[in-house]
Amino acid sequence: MAKVLVVDDVADNVALLTYELADHGYHVVSAFNGRQALELARSARPDVILLDVMMPGMDGYEVCRRLKEDPELRSIPVIIISAREQEDDVVRGLDVGAHDYVTKPFRMPVVLARVRSATRAKASHDLIVEMNARLAEHATIDGLTGLKNRAYFREELHNQCRVASRSESPLSLILLDVDWFKQYNDSYGHPAGDDVLCVVGSLFRDAAPAPVFAARYGGEEFSLLLPDTPSSQAFRVAEEVRVKIADQKWPLRAITVSLGVSTSSPGPINPQRLVEEADQALYFSKQKGRNVSYHYRDLETELSQNPHLKANFPQQTSRLYQY
Ligand code: GH3
Ligand code: MG
Ligand code: MG
Repeated sequence: MAKVLVVDDVADNVALLTYELADHGYHVVSAFNGRQALELARSARPDVILLDVMMPGMDGYEVCRRLKEDPELRSIPVIIISAREQEDDVVRGLDVGAHDYVTKPFRMPVVLARVRSATRAKASHDLIVEMNARLAEHATIDGLTGLKNRAYFREELHNQCRVASRSESPLSLILLDVDWFKQYNDSYGHPAGDDVLCVVGSLFRDAAPAPVFAARYGGEEFSLLLPDTPSSQAFRVAEEVRVKIADQKWPLRAITVSLGVSTSSPGPINPQRLVEEADQALYFSKQKGRNVSYHYRDLETELSQNPHLKANFPQQTSRLYQY
């Protein structure tokens, strides 16, 4: 049932409109001045507003202008009902954002038809807003695993870096890559590989403490942002995931993953650097033989102690994306 807000300082007008609208199945709320109208628009969220112009205090034009200024209320269609019937009055009413303009004395069938028209316009508008929200949500989801996708990861990475920089709390990142996955696809086929990705994705997501920012950021690569998480704790999460996946009863053949972890240092956090460090740690896990987790902090220590390793370690690992 559509809800109509009737605004008029003359009680008889309110009574008549309320009676007729209620008789036609509308839920009616009423206000007797501009201020009340704005309050009710906010609290009752009507689908249509029937608005008188000449009222003591704030007039209808001003009410309409304020409604259209408010992002939360501007989509409610306003039908002005006024005794002012000059061309200028109508133009002014429509120019301040009214959906429609009816002159007094009004004829009820016309008012009802205009309310129906405004209700339809509001319903179409609401549908578009809802569809847009659904599309936007959909655009952040990876179709195979149901996890968030890379576009979302990128955005969330930047958000979380900002939040963590401001709150001076450590932000950790885990990157996960399935081991020997090409071989698995070649042996068992792509659909069987897809099943593995779904299971790995959900095990990864479920291993994280809330709030969870798990995403599939590449083919068989997953990422997890851990706000307010120091390096030792992030490394523990990575190890839990690694062990859980290795211990899983896989139907065709054992699956393992390698993980790289990084944690921000105090001061402003550079998203690119956070990804790069986790990626280098992941690269090192692969070099160590796979089914391994590494934190960048420990990689750094090893590099500083081993000049040969340092000389041969790539400055940028190949799988790096631009963040
Ligand atoms: P490594 O242990 O070094 O990570 O070896 P790998 O074989 O896992 O790595 P590589 O990068 O050589 O191969 C990744 C494979 O992931 C290649 C591709 O067939 C597979 N892959 C990427 N996306 C998908 C997908 O959506 N579904 C399936 N089934 N396979 C995918
Ligand atoms: Mg890979
Ligand atoms: Mg791989």
